[in-house]
Amino acid sequence: MNHSSGTLYIVSAPSGAGKTSLVKALIDADSSIQVSVSHTTRAMRPGEVHGVNYHFVEHTAFKLMIEQGDFLEQAEVFGNFYGTSRSALQQALDQGQDLILEIDWQGAQQVRKLMPGARSIFILPPTQEALRQRLTNRGQDSDEIIEGRMREAVSEMSHYDEYDFVIINDDFATALEDLKAVFRANRLLQANQQQRHGQLLKQLLA
Ligand code: 5GP
Repeated sequence: MNHSSGTLYIVSAPSGAGKTSLVKALIDADSSIQVSVSHTTRAMRPGEVHGVNYHFVEHTAFKLMIEQGDFLEQAEVFGNFYGTSRSALQQALDQGQDLILEIDWQGAQQVRKLMPGARSIFILPPTQEALRQRLTNRGQDSDEIIEGRMREAVSEMSHYDEYDFVIINDDFATALEDLKAVFRANRLLQANQQQRHGQLLKQLLA
């Protein structure tokens, strides 16, 4: 049984860097890691599922949640509102689950202040061209939106130096190994091992 509390991870990246695919591959391979489902006012994209990708809510509902203090952090990104609700968060951490927040740099700054133990990871694309290609390949947005997203991406990337870890997603498998390595190393930190293996340590030192 695991009595330790989980670690909170912040994962940020510009849109198109492959963050969501990497995080999905990570949690598919490790059941002790969960991803927080954010609330957003943006429109659902084809293939997205309410309650899985996001809790899609109206502006009024989002504003009410802000007023009620329901959010750990919230920010306006690319004209839409996004936020992490407090409720699911503590539950996951208390259960000893590691929890990932896929949030932007503004949210990351807020969470770092509130939860200094959080680890943050920034995922970068290998080149600007690759990023533009990936945004174009999605085929869901107009050229104007893609150029807008490129500008947003550069602005998001300018905050990479506020993060503990930086992963470059050139080769997907390599980037996934890098991501797994961060989680694995964090579990090996002395303080975390002490929590996880208290019984063993007692026996070893008896
Ligand atoms: P997208 O609309 O492409 O899913 O996400 C756009 C941006 O919003 C991404 O940078 C994503 O990390 C960020 N984002 C998603 N959820 C949240 C959240 O709950 N809080 C904050 N601050 N940013 C979020």
